[in-house]
Amino acid sequence: MANDGGLWGGACRCVDRAAARIGLDKAMVDRLTQPERVIKVKIPVRRDSGDLELFDGYRVQHNGARGPYKGGIRYHPHALEDEVKALAMLMTWKCALMDLPFGGAKGGVVCDPKKLSREEVERLTRRLTTEIRRFIGPKRDIPAPDVSTGPEVMAWVMDTYSMHEGYTVPEVVTGKPLSIGGSRGRERATGRGVTVVTKEACRSNGLEFEDATVAVQGFGNVGSVAAEMLNEWGARVVAVSDSSGGIHLPGGLDVAEVGGHKAETGSVSGFRGSTDVTNEELLELDVDVLVPAALENQITGENASLVEADLVVEAANGPTTPEADEILGERGITLVPDILANAGGVTVSYFEWVQNIENYWWDVDRVNSELDEIMTRKFREVRDVYESGEEDMRMAAYRIAVEKVANAVRDRGLWP
Ligand code: NAD
Repeated sequence: MANDGGLWGGACRCVDRAAARIGLDKAMVDRLTQPERVIKVKIPVRRDSGDLELFDGYRVQHNGARGPYKGGIRYHPHALEDEVKALAMLMTWKCALMDLPFGGAKGGVVCDPKKLSREEVERLTRRLTTEIRRFIGPKRDIPAPDVSTGPEVMAWVMDTYSMHEGYTVPEVVTGKPLSIGGSRGRERATGRGVTVVTKEACRSNGLEFEDATVAVQGFGNVGSVAAEMLNEWGARVVAVSDSSGGIHLPGGLDVAEVGGHKAETGSVSGFRGSTDVTNEELLELDVDVLVPAALENQITGENASLVEADLVVEAANGPTTPEADEILGERGITLVPDILANAGGVTVSYFEWVQNIENYWWDVDRVNSELDEIMTRKFREVRDVYESGEEDMRMAAYRIAVEKVANAVRDRGLWP
């Protein structure tokens, strides 16, 4: 296996350790770590200025033993191959842990969406879809939103794919607008799932959820909804941040108002009554619960010893490096791993795919109650494995997930 650092190296190390516990041989570990397919494309885009610019795009399909590949598409300057490979692998474990009939995938385009107009993003999305269309599809690989992509981008993917097929194929992507087959509850699902597991984790760790103080890093799709719901369900959100910085108010923020302030000014900074903090300072605040919901590699070997929270709930993918994991563990800080904590999004994506295939729409109460039940059950399953002697919750989750995928690979056998 590759032995480089970062998210990819960390994910491979987790698989190695889980495999040793389950008793998997090297050949199986190699199959479980290496992606099955890496698709690299060049995406020519006509800029509004009339110039032509070439972007690099990736779609990584990690393991499809348990079903069609599933995973988001992100637009980000650092959506590089290794990162997308690691994120695809995390999706394999997440889908297996949650018992969703999917394998893992991830896609990315190396670009700065803040420097592209809406029309440029549309042209980029439609060309990307055209380049990868033979590899995606409702039974092959089903993309979804991720960093800097959302329902609008998913609608363009669905429309472009459908134009090529000659008929409407809503089930090719999830996270679509409701008007074209999106699921009720999907946009808030990841943040809702984070809130459900935070509540469960507080209970398991002897923390009073209703009184718990929380800091949330990142105020995008996941972070803003998690902060709002944590607030609504009774926790005290005292700090939030986005890429331009953070705010702190020890008495508790009115998160809905912070959302309004961000919509008006473009950032959370300067919210009335709050003190500005940097993103680094936010991670070190003396709170009960820290929710990193921005990007990977935020809690590192450098700052893990400064984290004051009792509980870290990984709403983002890979926010904690392996070095930081070790330090948090030694310091007795409980961490709810990403493949469990942020799995609410892919769970409701699965509901969306099912609804599209059946052409039958669920109401939002059904979506939310099935999501809450699954998140709670999966949290307890992972916690029970952890409490039966596993070293931490991440390893407990990996052990469950890796074993399921290994069983599927073994039971299918090898063709030819
Ligand atoms: P998003 O683009 O909507 O939001 C990202 C947020 O992070 C923005 O508020 C941005 O300003 C902020 N940010 C960026 N860099 C930062 C930094 N250095 N410090 C603090 N904040 C910073 O993305 P999202 O969809 O909310 O995804 C966030 C994370 O959650 C990613 O790791 C993603 O892979 C993961 N995730 C997303 C979903 C989903 O349904 N969208 C599902 C599972 C996991």
